[in-house]
Amino acid sequence: MAGILFIISAPSGSGKSTLVSELRKQVSGVDFSISWTTRAPRGSEENGREYYFTTRDEFERMIAAGMFLEHAEVFGKDYYGTARQSLEDARRAGHDLILDIDVQGAAQVRKAMPEAVSIFVLPPNPRALRTRLRNRSRAEGVVDDAELFRRLGEARKEIENYRDYSYILVNDILDRAVAQLEAIVLAERFYRNGEPIAYRSSRVLEVAAACRQSNAQERLKPVLEAFGINGSSGQQQLPFGDDPDDD
Ligand code: ADP
Ligand code: 5GP
Repeated sequence: MAGILFIISAPSGSGKSTLVSELRKQVSGVDFSISWTTRAPRGSEENGREYYFTTRDEFERMIAAGMFLEHAEVFGKDYYGTARQSLEDARRAGHDLILDIDVQGAAQVRKAMPEAVSIFVLPPNPRALRTRLRNRSRAEGVVDDAELFRRLGEARKEIENYRDYSYILVNDILDRAVAQLEAIVLAERFYRNGEPIAYRSSRVLEVAAACRQSNAQERLKPVLEAFGINGSSGQQQLPFGDDPDDD
């Protein structure tokens, strides 16, 4: 594709949909790839807006027909996949494309398209993740504790893959994380396409560089420790216990 392919992964509930939607309000020429899934629509989700919702049979027919750039069974439960058509549409429009996909899908895309820019989003700690998942469920009017615990349980496993990503964002303060994501997109356009940065250019490049995985280690340390990764026993803030801050 002519534009840049951005992959964004994160444990469910970290805020990546929120970040991508805020980014797209600020930066033009970035398309979002609408994935296919066999999971049921949540809350106010609409077919063709957040996802294309389909059946397992249809999804398996699409796999057999080679229609997916990547696909995976996420949480061992539902299929999710990126249609090759998304890339084709972005290419034709001359736009960049963002894929919001899990770590398995990201590995497949990196293999097929090593030039893709990958970004991993982390919640600041397990407690914030649990609160966000719970608040989202409540806002959608569906509180499914089994699903919530399943997603929390997967978070640590997904975070263990952070090293495979070029950039790391800690989504603590939303405005700051949005500015960091915007800086990454503008910096990549500058380095790859020579596209000038219209404002605060040195600041934008600095912010993006600080998010490079190799430069983000100090910022990452407490987050990884809170999730019990990197030799830490972690889980000082158990995601499953009662938390008075939740209500
Ligand atoms: P994801 O796409 O990663 O599953 P969402 O974007 O749906 O996550 O965000 C999960 C919940 O967390 C939403 O209710 C969203 O409004 C909230 N949220 C996102 N970012 C932040 C943030 N920085 N601080 C507090 N809440 C946030
Ligand atoms: P949710 O059910 O919360 O919308 O998404 C669950 C997980 O599926 C998230 O980690 C999200 O990134 C991932 N996901 C969404 N679309 C795709 C896709 O097309 N392919 C893959 N591999 N994962 C996806």
